[in-house]
Order: sequence, then C-alpha cells, then structure tokens
Amino acid sequence: MGRFTLPRDLYHGKGSLAELKNLKGKRAILVLGGGSMKRFGFVDKAVGYLEEAGMEVRLFENVEPDPSVETVMKGAAAMREFQPDWIVSMGGGSPIDAAKAMWVFYEYPDTTFEEIIRPFSFPTLRTKAKFCAIPSTSGTATEVTAFSVITDYAQGIKYPLADFNITPDVAIVDPELAETMPPKLTAHTGMDAMTHAIEAYVSTLHCNYTDPLALHAIKLIHENLKKSYDGDMAARDTMHDAQCLAGMAFSNALLGIVHSMAHKTGAAYTGGHIIHGAANAMYLPKVIKYNSSVPEAAERYAQIARFIGLKGETTAELVDALIAELRHMNNELNIPLAIKNYGEGGVIADKSIIDEKEFLDKLEQVAKLAISDACTGSNPRQPSVEEMKKLLLAVYYDKEIDF
Ligand code: FE
Repeated sequence: MGRFTLPRDLYHGKGSLAELKNLKGKRAILVLGGGSMKRFGFVDKAVGYLEEAGMEVRLFENVEPDPSVETVMKGAAAMREFQPDWIVSMGGGSPIDAAKAMWVFYEYPDTTFEEIIRPFSFPTLRTKAKFCAIPSTSGTATEVTAFSVITDYAQGIKYPLADFNITPDVAIVDPELAETMPPKLTAHTGMDAMTHAIEAYVSTLHCNYTDPLALHAIKLIHENLKKSYDGDMAARDTMHDAQCLAGMAFSNALLGIVHSMAHKTGAAYTGGHIIHGAANAMYLPKVIKYNSSVPEAAERYAQIARFIGLKGETTAELVDALIAELRHMNNELNIPLAIKNYGEGGVIADKSIIDEKEFLDKLEQVAKLAISDACTGSNPRQPSVEEMKKLLLAVYYDKEIDF
C-alpha cells in the first residue's frame, strides 16, 4: 500500500496571502523568523488579514536559522498560554519547521523529542489547532512536506522529524514573498529544490503520484533558476511553484544520499557550515554517477535528461549529459563543483573554508553518519562505508571516480 499526503488547500499566485482572511477561527499565532518579512511589510499584511477574519493575533518572532529545541519549547509554551486554533507560520524553512514542532508540543506537552524521533510515530494532531504555512524562500517546500528539522545544540544532534501529521493543512505559495530573496539565497535554495525533485524521481519509493510532480519541477527549475538568479521576477515566481511541486514529490517519495551527505557534512567542520543547498548542488552530479550503476536508476536519470531536452543516443550518454548540465548550472550560479573550492557563504573560491586535513581526519566518521541518515534508505543504491568515503573524497576534490 502507498500513501500520498498533501495539504488540504493550497493557494498560489500573487496576492494569495490575502486568503488568510478566509481562515475560520478565534485565535491565530503567527510564527516568524528574523525580520525580513516584517521589513518588507508582509507581517503587517498577514496580521491585518487575520484580524479581518475576526481572529485575535499574537506574534512569536525571531525563530533562528536551524531552530533549537529551546525555541520550540518556548513557542509551545506561548501557544499553551494563548490557546490558538490556527498556527500560521511565515518565512524561510526555519520558522515553519520550528512551528511544526511547536504544534506537537502544544497539543502534547508531555511528549519528548525522543518519543517522536522515530519516523511516522507522532500522536494525532489537530485536536487544538490547524496549521497554515507561507514560504518566503523557494527551496525547502516545508509548506507541503511532512518534515521538520530541529537542532539540539547541547547534545550536538539534529532531529529530523517526519510524520504526515505535520503536513500543513493550508499552504499559501505567494511569489511576492520570494521576490525579496537575494541572488545567493535564490541560487542555493533553487538547487536544493532541484535536488529534491531528482532524488524523489529516482527514489525507491517513487510512484505514479510523485513522478509527474518531480519531472515537471525539474523542467521548471532547469528553465527558470538562472533567470530568477539574474533578477527576472517572472522566473522567480515560477520557481516558487516549482520548488513546491518538488516538495509534494519528495514529501511522499522521500530523498536519497545527496541529502544524507549534505546533512552530515553541513555542520561537521570548524571552518564553517556548508550551506544545505550548496552542498546538494555540489554532491548531486557525483551521486548521479554513483547511482547510475543501478540500471533502473540510470534509465530514470536518462528519462530526466530527455524530458529537459538534453541529447544522447544511449542511456549512459544521457546520464552524462544530465551530469554535465547540472555542473553547468552550478557554474552559472556561482556555486562550487567541489568542497575544495567552497568559499565563505557557499560561493566559488580558490581556497576552501573547509580544511583538507580536518576533512580527511573526519572522513570515516562522516561516512558512517551519512549512511545512517534517514535519507539513505530510499536511495537506489545502498553504499558501503568504503563507497561513501570514496564519494566524499570525490566531492572534496571533484575527482572522477569509477564505482
Ligand atoms: Fe533539501
């Protein structure tokens, strides 16, 4: 049996933020990030619409990037005090992810992270509130997914929460919010979305319901990401839809080892974080090469290549054409091809902020952690520790490796 779960309602297009005034309820808590939404006037607009809906509104602001357990608990306490029947979260992936976790601890104050860490083990939500998500970046698609990532800084652990209970009830995909993104964020989040769609398309859990969403997302991202990066706002608007389609696919088909590697290398080194989207963009071509030794996976990469108009006679030629095209996209977006050229902020640099010796010292440990990541299970090829080490070396040095 398969399951395919999405929000009950999705409003999209410019001005769709106004749909907030049609929510039915008494009290709404608005969970927000650092302040860009406030600066651009979207918080005032959202509060105005919710008040038009006849709701009392309270703000929970300043959710940090990579939100912490403490922030989640503070938010849940604020909710228990205010008793909202709508949780509305607006911003990048972080405030929306945090709000999803707050929702769980609002409805179930006695539960713990340890109890909900096992995938698809959540208690039944919506006994107190419904959830509306409004993304301002075009990448994570958390507005339609069953996922949330919360960090326990004291223990140095990331909790990747996964359960269809936290798939939002309503998603508002208003491209006006995404028009505020700076170019670098546009590039990184866009390649994150591309990785979501490609990993979902070749996932062992892909199905007839996820395939068309993934393929169309790949096509739209291929056609629009560079234009969006260059400031074309029509392309930016299309990217906002495309990343959401990719999210619908991967929330149901899950991901693969590009994400496993990005998760475990992200905060592993003292030189600085490897930004999620940049990590995916760097690792994706190498993982495609690795996975394509599995004939069914190779055939699916070839289907993607054909679908976006790349040329090749054989499956192998089409897979290589896809790899070359993704590397070309990285170049155009000023994203490095390998960690050895990973500069501050995820742009191409001569000298990497990730020290070579530290990378090699931690190779074995990071390889094992990547294999144990929740995204590895649905990858079309299951890597051994030796293979994962080879992959990690390949993404550090941009080496061609024969698997
Ligand atoms: Fe991602």
